[in-house]
Amino acid sequence: MTSNQEASKPFAVPSLAILGGGPGGYEAAMVAAAMGSQVTIVERLGLGGAAVLTDVVPSKTLIATAESMNRSIDSTELGVSFNADDGDLKTALRADLKQINGRVKVLAMEQSTDIRRGLEALGVRIVIGTGRMLDGRTIEVDRGETKEIIKADAVLISVGAHPRELATARPDGERILNWTQIYDLDELPEELIVVGSGVTGAEFASAFNGLGSNVTLISSRDQVLPGEDSDAAAVLEQVFERRGLRVLSRSRAEAVERTADGVVVTLGDGSKVTGTHCLVCVGSIPNTTDIGLETAGVELTPSGHIKVDGVSRTSSPNVYAAGDCTGVLALASVAAMQGRIAVAHLVGDGVSPLKLTQVSSNIFTSPEIASVGVSEAELEAGKYQGDVVKLSLQTNARAKMRNVNDGFIKIIARRGSGTVIGGVVVGAGACELIFPIALAVAQKLHVDDIANTFTVYPSLSGSIAEAARRLHVHM
Ligand SMILES: Cc1cc2nc3c(=O)[nH]c(=O)nc-3n(C[C@H](O)[C@H](O)[C@H](O)COP(=O)(O)OP(=O)(O)OC[C@H]3O[C@@H](n4cnc5c(N)ncnc54)[C@H](O)[C@@H]3O)c2cc1C
Repeated sequence: MTSNQEASKPFAVPSLAILGGGPGGYEAAMVAAAMGSQVTIVERLGLGGAAVLTDVVPSKTLIATAESMNRSIDSTELGVSFNADDGDLKTALRADLKQINGRVKVLAMEQSTDIRRGLEALGVRIVIGTGRMLDGRTIEVDRGETKEIIKADAVLISVGAHPRELATARPDGERILNWTQIYDLDELPEELIVVGSGVTGAEFASAFNGLGSNVTLISSRDQVLPGEDSDAAAVLEQVFERRGLRVLSRSRAEAVERTADGVVVTLGDGSKVTGTHCLVCVGSIPNTTDIGLETAGVELTPSGHIKVDGVSRTSSPNVYAAGDCTGVLALASVAAMQGRIAVAHLVGDGVSPLKLTQVSSNIFTSPEIASVGVSEAELEAGKYQGDVVKLSLQTNARAKMRNVNDGFIKIIARRGSGTVIGGVVVGAGACELIFPIALAVAQKLHVDDIANTFTVYPSLSGSIAEAARRLHVHM
């Protein structure tokens, strides 16, 4: 900004202190600093937060190796032969977990460093330490030997969450693990029991199955991935079964104990499942205790999440909150958007409230499951009036060529108008393929807009256009 522009500024941009350097915090810091706000960010671990250091980046890096192994095994059907001594590629390919985890850690640290440099380049002040609110404008930072008081016009809380533990299944970091601890393993678990079939449990079960572990997934529900598209969950269960991944449905893990050389999981009906390791994925708890929220007048929900409105305001006038600590939707992309919205509101920039019906997300299982907008379950519940077309990828020429056998495209359009309101993609690369549908949902495009857009032949996206074509409303 030139000095002339500076002089013509109608008001001073408010300063901002941010508690927590994950996507909710660092994205907000970048936007605020770029707008001329004086920004201080307080972080106790490292920039990027749990998203970069223990959750998103490490898990997706591990999954990239599993994907690569799955592709190698599947490539034998495309005519690739390997000089495997025993002729069986499934046993000849070996995942070196020490090397994989080494790569995971380096990549996460590099990503964290990139974020720190980006923030520093924008003039954001980074304070490493544990912060707590003294009032709605003040954070006290415990830096070990010293304490520091940070004051700002407004505060953004983005402290994230940590893995929930079962009292009867305490992680020991060796055999009973939470998802932050698997990157310290040097040996691939021979028999891994995953407790919890939500997104995190399903992703790790799929990944370790791909890496070569014998995996048992303990699911308390009828189907894995409760709350997600039921057709997608069914495809995933079929693939799990084909790949030898055992799913124990309607089974609740009551306790996990160590044995001499492994673990034993006791289920609700008293039966026991034995394995070498157990990974517990039973949700998260917000990091909202003992950080002075009561003193700052910030109200919590009964689950301990910070109450926020659509523009990330809390119950305290100067305090905003973003990310997993708000319990709105535990996604890095949503945390980042909440943080940006908070900044836009703070500085008086054009701001529109968070629109959850536009959020696209992906489950990085094999195959991947991506979705956006209104779900079929919401149509069935009568929340929206819509039409659905589901097209299997089995008839897609490109899918056949690439030996992609599992998956589908589903598009949901508003009944009568044909406006695209939702969609699901199951298949390899679903996280990329969902984008045209997400764009259509965000921009309120008509199914004809997608149908009449050229797609490459042959391509998987051809099926997106074809599904849209089948939703054409004849006027
Ligand atoms: C295994 C796993 C995989 C996931 N994969 C994906 C994915 O693929 N895509 C996706 O969108 N989302 C994914 N998520 C969800 C995603 O990780 C979270 O939604 C995201 O991290 C939320 O960001 P955040 O900024 O709210 O919190 P975090 O990333 O948790 O950051 C919060 C930060 O605040 C710091 N902090 C907390 N308290 C204090 C304090 N008192 N003082 C100083 N610092 C403090 C913490 O150290 C932490 O660094 C995944 C989650 C898990 C568990």
